[in-house]
Amino acid sequence: MIDFKLTDEQNMLKETFRKFADKDIRPACRVLEEDVTRKKYVDWDLVKKSSKLGVRTATIPEELGGLGLDWPTIVIMYEQLAYGDLGFAFTQFHTAFFGKGIGNWPEHKRNFILPKFLEDDTFLLATSHSEPHGMTEYFVPYDVPGGGIKTYAEKQGDEYVINGTKQFCSNAVNAKVIFVTARTDKEGPMTKSLSSFLMPVDTPGLTIGKPYEYMGARMLPTSPLYFEDARLPADYLLGPKPGVAYEVGLPHASLVLLLKSCILLGGFQALYEESLRYAREREICGKPLIEQQTIKVMLAEMRGITEASRAIVWKLAWMVDKNPDNVKENLELAWLFKAMTCEWSMKVIRNADEIHGGMGTNKELIVEKFIRDIFTLLHGHNNRMFSYLKGAPTLE
Ligand SMILES: Cc1cc2nc3c(=O)[nH]c(=O)nc-3n(C[C@H](O)[C@H](O)[C@H](O)COP(=O)(O)OP(=O)(O)OC[C@H]3O[C@@H](n4cnc5c(N)ncnc54)[C@H](O)[C@@H]3O)c2cc1C
Repeated sequence: MIDFKLTDEQNMLKETFRKFADKDIRPACRVLEEDVTRKKYVDWDLVKKSSKLGVRTATIPEELGGLGLDWPTIVIMYEQLAYGDLGFAFTQFHTAFFGKGIGNWPEHKRNFILPKFLEDDTFLLATSHSEPHGMTEYFVPYDVPGGGIKTYAEKQGDEYVINGTKQFCSNAVNAKVIFVTARTDKEGPMTKSLSSFLMPVDTPGLTIGKPYEYMGARMLPTSPLYFEDARLPADYLLGPKPGVAYEVGLPHASLVLLLKSCILLGGFQALYEESLRYAREREICGKPLIEQQTIKVMLAEMRGITEASRAIVWKLAWMVDKNPDNVKENLELAWLFKAMTCEWSMKVIRNADEIHGGMGTNKELIVEKFIRDIFTLLHGHNNRMFSYLKGAPTLE
């Protein structure tokens, strides 16, 4: 049976996170945004509060010390986090995939990270696949000999020695561990040659570059990474053997896309509510804006998109929860849904800006920030669609 009615626990969680978004996330992120010195990329008190509310450990199975929440509940939580701030929600989301996957790790590998992760409220994570020459090559994938990712991890005795450059690693400056994708075979096609590594940020030979300056999602510092003979114990290789990063990572791909769509949804809800409030309060030509037919239509479009996005996010959350092994179908829908939420974003941004007239992109109002944040996070959904239209070659 399919049921979209929230349980009492889910309703409580939604309310708790809505309050957290209003009272804590928005004010803290506003202060950080306005600090033009960019000396600080994160508010650690906010991270700690978020951790105490269970965000970091939400998906870790209960028997391993987490909350063991299911995906339908996780998307309710993440919609509210994003309603507070899209960038902040993204700084947390790596923990969700980690928590879901950790149950499958062999126990000794779990022990490299899990005990420290559980005891430290500031233990955050990051993931790094992208390289300067084009991330699309990883997603499509560009599966010719030696194609795509170039970062190379060479096995030397009981260590891997890693060299290369990564681009766009979000949350690296806040993280304690980065999951890094590298070639363990220089010559082979990517789907057979990539491996994933767990890399503590104090690994000798790893340098995390200064975050790039983006117009939006300012709470999500995104940096280049440089590996110069970065040395890792061979045991920090994830997965059963080298060369299987795609197989190990593929079931996670739909989860990543799910939370990306969900975070956009939080932004849509925020822009819809701000626009509705503004349209009710502002009087033009002797009556509130909302009484103008064209404004009503724009609000209706925004609400329709928000509700439709929630419906597909919930559906996908249900699918990945009930049928996690249905990788191909889940991933196809995840690609399509992410593409749709990205396309719909433009309408939501445009309507919010239009309803606010000259104030839509004025920094006095929070609408401006949500418009920037959403726009910054839309990149690169074409490449996922391309993979889909090609028949998702990684799954054949
Ligand atoms: C704020 C931010 C945070 C990020 N965080 C991370 C992170 O934490 N970890 C990480 O690994 N990466 C991260 N990325 C990288 C992100 O995943 C890539 O930017 C994205 O996948 C697009 O890759 P690209 O920038 O290299 O674009 P390119 O590969 O150069 O592509 C340019 C454009 O052409 C399109 N395109 C390219 N080839 C094709 C094709 N064959 N068919 C159709 N369209 C095509 C692409 O869709 C894109 O629109 C982040 C990026 C940003 C902006």
